[in-house]
Amino acid sequence: MNMTATGSSQETIALFDKYVIPNYGRYPVSLVRGEGSHVWDAEGKRYLDLFPGWGCNILGYCPPKVVQRVQEQVSQLIHVPNTWYTEQQGKFAQWLSTKGFGQAFFCNSGAEAIEGAIKLARLHTTDNRYRIISFENSFHGRTMGAITATGQPKYHEGLGPLVAGFRYAPYNDLAAVEELMDDETCAILLEPIQGEGGVNIADESFLAGLRQLADDNNCLLIFDEVQTGMGRTGEWFAYQRYGIQPDVMTLAKGLAGGVACGAIMARPEVAQSLRPGTHASTFGGNAIAMAAGIATAETIEEENLLENCKAMSDRIKQHIEQLAAELPIIQDVRVCGMMIGIDLTTSATPAVSACMERGVLINATHDTVVRLLPAINITAEQVDEGWQVISDVFREMAEDQ
Ligand SMILES: *Cc1c(COP(=O)(O)O)cnc(C)c1O
Repeated sequence: MNMTATGSSQETIALFDKYVIPNYGRYPVSLVRGEGSHVWDAEGKRYLDLFPGWGCNILGYCPPKVVQRVQEQVSQLIHVPNTWYTEQQGKFAQWLSTKGFGQAFFCNSGAEAIEGAIKLARLHTTDNRYRIISFENSFHGRTMGAITATGQPKYHEGLGPLVAGFRYAPYNDLAAVEELMDDETCAILLEPIQGEGGVNIADESFLAGLRQLADDNNCLLIFDEVQTGMGRTGEWFAYQRYGIQPDVMTLAKGLAGGVACGAIMARPEVAQSLRPGTHASTFGGNAIAMAAGIATAETIEEENLLENCKAMSDRIKQHIEQLAAELPIIQDVRVCGMMIGIDLTTSATPAVSACMERGVLINATHDTVVRLLPAINITAEQVDEGWQVISDVFREMAEDQ
């Protein structure tokens, strides 16, 4: 068996058909190589990717410093159990605390970070509270706790009984949360910007109100920043746009530049509730992920990528709003940093394949929303080139209406 040869897309698809569990819908293409915002398929076709790594590749494909540090780390030390100390884990925790707040627990994915945050909220209460308020159209991951927290019935089908104690409020509706709050509630959990739910941006007064409500009721405010964190919105973390701070924050996706890594950040007083024996993750905080995370953070800082993220955000927002004035199929534009939702009056799915044919990769979510999560180091030329293709596709879709 030749494990290194690069098969055609068709050959790879044949392997999947036979040997891989078919739980994903996949584009009929095998990807083999990436660099920055570009990725190549097995047939040598190049794509400009405006949704690289489903939001994980915050610096695009194979960011040089991440590649170099991972290569160095791999030959030094790959993994040691969490019964030992490693400098890399201490240093990455310091980075996250300095740019954000609190103390870190490391895991490997977003869902795992959410599970840990749910356990932390229940462990932290002193009076046996267990209820958690989350939101309609949220997305928190696929494990049983995380999927229960996810306020979308379509993801719950066939999985019952779900985890007890979750209730859902409409997003940006403070009165509805006040209504659900009771003395059994231990936490309010939400994305400061809903990603999967269609790029829905929280109002400032809503988040300030939730902060107050959590304080008044002695429960935790947990932000799921798995998608919004690590520079995605032009700040290190999205909460920093709002002038309030959550008690707990979950991170993953872009956290280590495309290497699997998740984290919980918690205020020190809250963090103390994860005592030895209460929670663990065997691979969590492994030296490779930590080296990749540090390299990602250093790259964002050294290359002023928060500034680039904001500038590219303004640029693409202008492009979109200009076209929206002309094309009524664009019914709403929601942009925060490199988190972009273009809400259409029609299904967004046909736009994905039409753009792909022309070499541009985008995503459709929540039926009608074209979602872009470009790398925060994308260039102005790449933004313009990508938008040219998307706008052509939108115009054609408008003609077909
Ligand atoms: C993707 C996502 C998750 C789940 O992350 P996984 O790594 O897929 O488990 C959780 N919360 C939010 C906001 C996400 O976008």
